[in-house]
Amino acid sequence: MYDIAVIGGGPAGLTAGIYAARAGHTAVVFEKNYPGGQIISTHLMENYPGFPEGISGFDFGDKLKAQAERFGVEIVTANTTGVEQHNGYRAIKTDAGEFECKALIIASGATPRKLGLPGENKFTGEGISYCATCDGAFFKGRDVCVVGGGDTALEDALYLANIAKKVYLIHRRCEFRAQSVLVERARAAANIEFLLDREPVEFLGDKEFSGVLIREKNTGETQNLSVDGCFLAIGYVPDTAYLNGVVNLDRSGYVVAGEDTKTGSNGIFAAGDVRTKRLRQVVTAVSDGAAAALAASEYVEENK
Ligand code: NAP
Repeated sequence: MYDIAVIGGGPAGLTAGIYAARAGHTAVVFEKNYPGGQIISTHLMENYPGFPEGISGFDFGDKLKAQAERFGVEIVTANTTGVEQHNGYRAIKTDAGEFECKALIIASGATPRKLGLPGENKFTGEGISYCATCDGAFFKGRDVCVVGGGDTALEDALYLANIAKKVYLIHRRCEFRAQSVLVERARAAANIEFLLDREPVEFLGDKEFSGVLIREKNTGETQNLSVDGCFLAIGYVPDTAYLNGVVNLDRSGYVVAGEDTKTGSNGIFAAGDVRTKRLRQVVTAVSDGAAAALAASEYVEENK
């Protein structure tokens, strides 16, 4: 029986582990992939305080992991498949077995959203990618496109502009969610072309990926955009399907909890991107991790 268990080894989950362990509790973090979460696919994180030159997402994730281990946090590589609320404890079902804890912190984050268009599954990994820093190098000197108008899409376009010959940025509106500094940088790049008010309709190719059919939203006109690779950056979907009603979710599937990270379910807290909140950034994720560890520690002490 762990004092505090954390589902998800991203910035929120690992920070929760660090704070829980430093508060003298036994702490375990369950992570299905490499610890670090979504941030490990970010080429350069420039807005996290304390790193004036920026830091690569992978290095940041690695440092978080090392810090958690230094304080005795157990990191278990396992996919969580279910959570149960019992009298006085919580059970976590994973593909590496079942575990029990006194307090549980949900920090399972979110995964990239799919467009759900014809050809998407067929060419995923064979031309279509959800991670520019992971797959960008395959497209050296070639033509690619990025879909989306948020921070991820603009960062991806800028990253790919240094590798690819040409980068098309396809966005369904003329305004961007992305920070204006990123939009301006992309506008200034000689090899980035904005295709605005346009959306993909189908991914093309017989055996090999050959491009994207895109539609101009106002006129309905379609165009075959011939590219070697397509990077989708259209947001994220929270990883909460395994929770099965044990906590309340909002309409989009995020765990309903306030800044105190309390979910309303006894002994269960939510931290990071998986929680209902306005700003989903690493800096708010680590803040949530600390708040959740404090709330979980208090819960454990009060229920001794
Ligand atoms: P996001 O902000 O949710 O943006 C998603 C983009 O995809 C939007 O422009 C949206 O268009 C578009 N989109 C969504 N569904 C679509 C569809 N079906 N077809 C076409 N376009 C679609 O996602 P994100 O850029 O991944 O960012 C997620 C969070 O992480 C944000 O809070 C962001 O600030 C943060 N982030 C921060 C950094 C950083 O600070 N360095 C880096 C990356 C991400 P509309 O605008 O029309 O809705």
